[in-house]
Amino acid sequence: MEINSDTENDREHEGTEKSIEKMSINVSASDSQHEALFLVLAYLPVYQLVVMSEVCMALREAVSKDVLPWLNIVVQNPLSSRLSDDILIKITSKSDGRLATLALIKCVNITDDALQRVIQNNPFLHKLYLPGCTGLTPEGITIALEILSQQNKTLNTLHINGIYNITKHHFKTLQSHLKPALHDQKKPFLYHQYRNSPVNKEGDRNIDVEICPRCDEVRLVYDCSRATCDKQMRKVRFKADCRGCLICIARCVECGGCVESEEMEQAVCSDVLCTDCWLLLPKCNFCNRPYCNQHSDLQSSPPGDQGSSTSGFVCQVCHAKFITNVVDNDDE
Ligand SMILES: [Zn+2]
Ligand SMILES: [Zn+2]
Ligand SMILES: [Zn+2]
Ligand SMILES: [Zn+2]
Ligand SMILES: [Zn+2]
Repeated sequence: MEINSDTENDREHEGTEKSIEKMSINVSASDSQHEALFLVLAYLPVYQLVVMSEVCMALREAVSKDVLPWLNIVVQNPLSSRLSDDILIKITSKSDGRLATLALIKCVNITDDALQRVIQNNPFLHKLYLPGCTGLTPEGITIALEILSQQNKTLNTLHINGIYNITKHHFKTLQSHLKPALHDQKKPFLYHQYRNSPVNKEGDRNIDVEICPRCDEVRLVYDCSRATCDKQMRKVRFKADCRGCLICIARCVECGGCVESEEMEQAVCSDVLCTDCWLLLPKCNFCNRPYCNQHSDLQSSPPGDQGSSTSGFVCQVCHAKFITNVVDNDDE
């Protein structure tokens, strides 16, 4: 079995294609147009929009001519690495200057210049997600936000985690260009929740990064999910409360609780688990290590087993080490 870094992307890709397939079956099953399908367009990421436009003429027309599907633009895998400045300018121009959300997830080829041009043409942007867009600089994003706040101070959400060299000065300047949050009461920012859905929900903070109270760097700073952590006991153990970035405080991917080095458990996927969550997860038959729930699709069935859940699973590492090897040796 060949394992490469694209496995995850391919799987995601496959899933999307399957769901699009299903949708096209539904469309052709009926002669009339499904009106709901057209409403759905406004909520689809760009990749799914493009695929939908292949389904039938009416959908193709709607995707290419309507403004509605292009008011909230989300570019994520598998398109992220293929998005160029030119394509970005082209797809954002479809919103006719009314773009409300721009989410570029790990679009590494986008430059400051293109971002500034998009912002110049779309003065009513509310949400801007740029996590992992490493072609952008803090200075470039600051200029983009200055352009925006000169026109309208409409931007209420900014995600910039993963952009290199953000200083405290950049952070404060960027924050000053955002529309102040309506709710003072901040919802706790929890690692496992953020990891599962990085895009904001109502009540979340308006900028993803902040200054870590421990290391003083601009990073994602998580609250602790453990109810007991507010209590004196944990405060004594951690010498303060256990709010901090991942470099300062390790966190369990399943529950978001802080994990001290002596209680840290490792999953096959290298994610950190607390002992409580480690105990609950199913383990590999060979190495007795679990996958976290997000990576549980990497489990393969043990040899001779047709996927019944009772006989456990084999992790990818052990599969390559013990099973593929045995098969290869048998061939010789
Ligand atoms: Zn820190
Ligand atoms: Zn846990
Ligand atoms: Zn804690
Ligand atoms: Zn294993
Ligand atoms: Zn994992």
